[in-house]
Amino acid sequence: MNQVDYLRISLIDRCNFRCQYCMPEGAELDYILKQQLLTDEELLTLLQEVFIPLGFTSFRLTGGEPLLRPRVVDLVGKIASLPQTQDISMTTNGFLLAPMAQNLYNAGLRRINISLDSLDPDIFDQIIGNHGRSRWQQVWEGIQAAYDVGFDPLKLNVVVIPGVNDHEVLDLAALTIDKQWHVRFIEFMPIGNSQLFGDRGWVSSAELRQAIRERWGLTESQVCGNGPADVFQIPGAKGTLGFISQMSECFCDRCNRMRLSADGWLRPCLLNETGQIDLKTALRNGISTAQLQNQVQQVLAIKAEINFKQRDSGTVGTYTRTMSQIGG
Ligand code: SAM
Ligand code: SF4
Repeated sequence: MNQVDYLRISLIDRCNFRCQYCMPEGAELDYILKQQLLTDEELLTLLQEVFIPLGFTSFRLTGGEPLLRPRVVDLVGKIASLPQTQDISMTTNGFLLAPMAQNLYNAGLRRINISLDSLDPDIFDQIIGNHGRSRWQQVWEGIQAAYDVGFDPLKLNVVVIPGVNDHEVLDLAALTIDKQWHVRFIEFMPIGNSQLFGDRGWVSSAELRQAIRERWGLTESQVCGNGPADVFQIPGAKGTLGFISQMSECFCDRCNRMRLSADGWLRPCLLNETGQIDLKTALRNGISTAQLQNQVQQVLAIKAEINFKQRDSGTVGTYTRTMSQIGG
């Protein structure tokens, strides 16, 4: 198994969107109360005293919507300036990004992933569950702002849902031709909204690649990410196309990440909460640094076991939280 050195940190479980594929339709989610959220200080303590000494050097800030976290720019700056931080990145829906992009960059953020499931404002609003004034333009301005500020790489995440946005795959792929944008197609997972998944199913990365190959051709990219995406390029394009194929392929043996929820639960795997631990309560109960490290090491050991079993049996585990609650 890979060295696990990458922590995805959910800064908040709340979101200003309600994407069909992420949140159960109509259901009320139990949001984390403010006093249950890890504070900035607690998060920094866990990073400095527990995760960094155990070899974690890459941190991705996510959510819910991470830009809803109060004083998020400050927190980015503090994590970026830890001497051992080699990489800090963020996944956002981009809605609040335009006025914050420069400050986030100045604070030390360099890599950003922005979700953009459609180029059609009506379809976009339908996907994100918006019934008011269209939100597409504001997200688009967030993407442009991030590009102008110099975020590199700038990745656009697309969850492909049959009959909803799969007809836009070529248009979305074409965004990589003239700009150094990296579009990543993510296979729709039955997590968060399994009713939609049951109704629609999912489209495999292989099918998407075939459609793109027929239109322009497709070569394997020289730029290889360190994440789960298989990276390709339209010949001559400035950007790349990534395919995250967690439904059609098992890449557990390449997995180098663990997830920390906004209320301090550390889980070994997106799809499996076996062995997860409540680091916030442990920290607040005054458990020693050595004991905290020991608990995290036990989760690392469980992770190796889960990955091995999943790879060999093709099973996925149990999940009781949505992507927005886990920190996708
Ligand atoms: N709110 C931010 C955003 O949307 O980018 C960050 C959190 S979101 C949970 C992180 C990523 O998870 C997004 O790229 C989203 O598209 C993806 N995601 C959410 N639910 C998913 C599902 N059921 N299948 C595949 N990807 C999903
Ligand atoms: Fe919010 Fe992101 Fe989930 Fe959409 S995918 S509801 S933007 S957390």
